[in-house]
Amino acid sequence: MEAVAELPFEMGMIYEGERIRGPDMYVELGGPKVKYKAELTQSREASEIEDGLVKVIGPDLSEMEEGGRYNFGILMEVAGEKIEKDLEAVLERRIHEFCNYVEGFMHLNQRYDIWCRVGKKAYGKGLTSLKFLGMALVKLFKAELPIIEKIQFTFITDESEVVEFHSRALEIYKARDARARELKDEDVDEFYGCVLCQSFAPTHVCTVTPTRIALCGAITWFDARAASRVDPKGPNFPIPKGDLLDEVRGEYSGINDVTKEKSLGEVERVYLHSIFDHPHTSCGCFESIAFYIPEVDGIGIVPRDFQGEAVNGLAFSAMATQAGGGKQSHGFLGMAIEYMRSPKFLQADGGWERIVWLPSQTKEAVLDSIPEEMRDKVLTENDVNNISDLKDKLIEVEHPVVNRWEEEPEEAGEERDLEAPVMELPGEMVGLPAGSGVRIILENARIHADRVILKKEGK
Ligand code: SF4
Ligand code: ZN
Repeated sequence: MEAVAELPFEMGMIYEGERIRGPDMYVELGGPKVKYKAELTQSREASEIEDGLVKVIGPDLSEMEEGGRYNFGILMEVAGEKIEKDLEAVLERRIHEFCNYVEGFMHLNQRYDIWCRVGKKAYGKGLTSLKFLGMALVKLFKAELPIIEKIQFTFITDESEVVEFHSRALEIYKARDARARELKDEDVDEFYGCVLCQSFAPTHVCTVTPTRIALCGAITWFDARAASRVDPKGPNFPIPKGDLLDEVRGEYSGINDVTKEKSLGEVERVYLHSIFDHPHTSCGCFESIAFYIPEVDGIGIVPRDFQGEAVNGLAFSAMATQAGGGKQSHGFLGMAIEYMRSPKFLQADGGWERIVWLPSQTKEAVLDSIPEEMRDKVLTENDVNNISDLKDKLIEVEHPVVNRWEEEPEEAGEERDLEAPVMELPGEMVGLPAGSGVRIILENARIHADRVILKKEGK
């Protein structure tokens, strides 16, 4: 923890886990209630940067309404002899970490999905301008990453400027992802890992391969490689492949060894391309969740920005509790949207032939990657909104998952619920006081319910 004389707050790792709840927030910047938000790091020539400069385009914090929600852009520009284009994405990802070092400021998610809050207390203590946040970030970035020789920040809150910035940022993210798509896992000698999110999820280890972008959707194999080269002591590191133990599931002895070591023994095996048995762990910043639907033996997908309930009656936030926290959750997987474009997308589980439901907007975004014969069979919220209609509709469109119903379980001679997920529920959900620390784990449980309804108290 460090007190900085000219800044009206303290900063340090100690504040990383700090959450600012609705009633405690002064303003919200980005987040699910506004449409335009993005953060972007760009490398520049040294002559193009005024080191330490922080600009605010649009209303600053003191000009905002208390309780308001605003479109928001963060542009970070850097220069340095060792700074290359490949480093932009990983430097950009550290904005999340360093913003959270600031007392009274919260930053969630990444890229086009950032969600920040300024706390009332912090505002009262003097955090009345984004310039202070920028000054803190300049200091933190330069202290942690000496390769940055010059750095400047621009915060954008002016609505039309954010709209323009947002669309420019989307183009740049797209180009980064497209570049990684040209490579296959077989073309490279090593994969890369990331443990940046261990501050929130201590047993979480990301493995990034050419066909599996990190679940936050912000770090490709190229990005992680560049970062591990220039900052070997940082959160990114090489993962030797070791032996390929299972080609279809994507299990490598090298990934298992490194994950075991970095998760402090908690996670021993990882399948890169399955949501069952030993799925990749999920921290909290996944762009979407793949979830098993036992009633139809299929898989649904819900992205973070989907408002409302998925076909199983659960909202993204309810399932995020199952998937996240650095655990391996059989039947739940946090993943990037870009992973749906991977040639190995959940290949061990049947790939697109196993996907029964995803929201129309996401389907549209990844349509080119869905095999043509599956495009009419993967259903959306416009086709069906509950499990019993889902069954009928899958029969109607002749979804390949229907063939699995006949084969299992009798013919296969095994119990279907070998693949039933383990449900872990916070104690609050069964009436224990919030924060009681009690979690209810239902392992191998057989529960029949036509519908599960979760309601907030008082609604
Ligand atoms: Fe790193 Fe994974 Fe967190 Fe992305 S989700 S920042 S790759 S640990
Ligand atoms: Zn994370």
